[in-house]
Amino acid sequence: MSFSKASVRDAAVEGKRALVRVDFNVPLEDGNVADDTRIRAALPTIELLRERGAALVLVSHLGRPKGKVDPGLSIRPVGERLAELIGAEVKQAPAVVGEEVEAMADGLGAGEVLLLENVRYEPGETANDPALAEALAKLADLYVNDAFGAAHRAHASTAGVAALLPGYAGLLLEREVTELTRVVESPQRPLVVVLGGAKVTDKVGVIDRFLEVADEILIGGAMCFSFFRAQGTATGDSLVEEEGVKLAAEALERSGSTDCELRLPVDLVLGERFAADAEPRQSDGVEVPDGWMGLDVGPRTARAYADVIASAGTVLWNGPMGAFELAPFAAGTRAVAAAVAAAPGTTVIGGGDSVAALQQFGLADKVDWLSTGGGASLELLEGKKLPGVEALIDA
Ligand code: ADP
Ligand code: MG
Repeated sequence: MSFSKASVRDAAVEGKRALVRVDFNVPLEDGNVADDTRIRAALPTIELLRERGAALVLVSHLGRPKGKVDPGLSIRPVGERLAELIGAEVKQAPAVVGEEVEAMADGLGAGEVLLLENVRYEPGETANDPALAEALAKLADLYVNDAFGAAHRAHASTAGVAALLPGYAGLLLEREVTELTRVVESPQRPLVVVLGGAKVTDKVGVIDRFLEVADEILIGGAMCFSFFRAQGTATGDSLVEEEGVKLAAEALERSGSTDCELRLPVDLVLGERFAADAEPRQSDGVEVPDGWMGLDVGPRTARAYADVIASAGTVLWNGPMGAFELAPFAAGTRAVAAAVAAAPGTTVIGGGDSVAALQQFGLADKVDWLSTGGGASLELLEGKKLPGVEALIDA
């Protein structure tokens, strides 16, 4: 399947004002942008529009101000960083919408950039209030959505406004959807899916889909303990989601009737506490005694998973294999990250913590696609329609 929505590349934008929804939801530290990866990810769309003579009105959320002005979550530091990155002025709006903002948007010349305040200052944003969508639509002639990370939300700035202005896909959003869709719909085989992290309930939809589509699913992270509990294996004090146990049992049962092999760890690294100074203990099996938690997959598991990854045509990885933030429990995630980085097949990574792990190990530039959208990428992989994409005009 090729991308079915109209691309900003094909939009007539010269002399027009484009309202561009970006995902500038970056971490702040002491009022400064601590990591500008998401700002950089939006630059191709921003540069394309500026080069083609559009005026840009940028809008993003930042954190969770819950519909109220929260000065600590002002988007201003992001605008300052963006100005440095594009080497041009970024005008900062004093609010999200309203007369003053309209006057600023009206006054923009070709190639100029205005950044609206944090859109979640407005209670109408997450409620997808038509009044906010209308106020946003007044600021522009066309709409571009480049905020893949927010595309699974039907909010005023992602879905509502797209019903009022002609809506185009930004370059990042288009690439995200294309890369992730290819994994499910036309992967090079074998397709190997590596799933870890903390919550089965977040990822069970993806497990279900890939039981039909993938050749192998490799489970690690805290997630595996819901599976072990479902099998009646002792999990000690490991993180087990009660709701996840039932879902894991269903997935295990379903895996018996599909061609997909679902694999669980065969050994673990245990710790008495979730802490960087906890003493790691290797366990040559998967039973976890009381008083201990499974905090990483063991070396035999890591080696077996690395072998499967090495012979994959496509690897999708979502979720770390263990508590990789804690040095004694990072080895399993490190081994899988190294295997993914070295894999000859196509490699696609989703999930904020998996991306952070790759960055921590210095391997982020060794994979084919790093998704910027955790929740959105999971929903897309599950086969759900993303409201922020659906609202755009068809190609
Ligand atoms: P992603 O963001 O890549 O989708 P998740 O958010 O689902 O990943 O999970 C990441 C978190 O899971 C990390 O904070 C990590 O410490 C935690 N984690 C992984 N394995 C374990 C484990 N065995 N026990 C406790 N926490 C774990
Ligand atoms: Mg996460």
